[in-house]
Amino acid sequence: MALERTISIIKPDAVAKNVIGEIYSRFEKAGLKVVAAKMKHLSKQEAEGFYAVHRERPFFNALVNFMISGPVMIQVLEGENAVLKNRELMGATNPKEAAPGTIRADFADSIDANAVHGSDSLENAAIETAYFFPATDVYAR
Ligand code: UDP
Repeated sequence: MALERTISIIKPDAVAKNVIGEIYSRFEKAGLKVVAAKMKHLSKQEAEGFYAVHRERPFFNALVNFMISGPVMIQVLEGENAVLKNRELMGATNPKEAAPGTIRADFADSIDANAVHGSDSLENAAIETAYFFPATDVYAR
């Protein structure tokens, strides 16, 4: 088992539903610690940069517009196998396919408005963390 850090973003739909606390509770019950956090209303440029890997995908513009439709809650989670653990808590990208009890099954409405983002690899977790947080804003706990 490896102690890892990963990025989680509670997207505008879930922030609007007032379930930040419910989602944090799932992280904590799974043994993931919040070691950095901030609420932020992303600019178009920030959202485009964050999702740059998807630039050529047909849903890119809709995804960017959705991500800037309201504030998001961004956190760094730390724990054993944090990257995979967070992905398991999130559930499948399409909430219709997400396992019962996952965040997306419980709080997401559609594949576009799907409540949360989570890094899909340790390498991307490091890149995404640096995108939002200076190293001094991530705390050892
Ligand atoms: N997305 C979308 N339509 C699609 C596929 C993806 O709007 O057909 C959005 C969705 O918000 C998803 C994000 O693009 O969370 C990134 O897609 P990815 O395949 O990386 O899924 P994730 O890692 O978020 O589960």
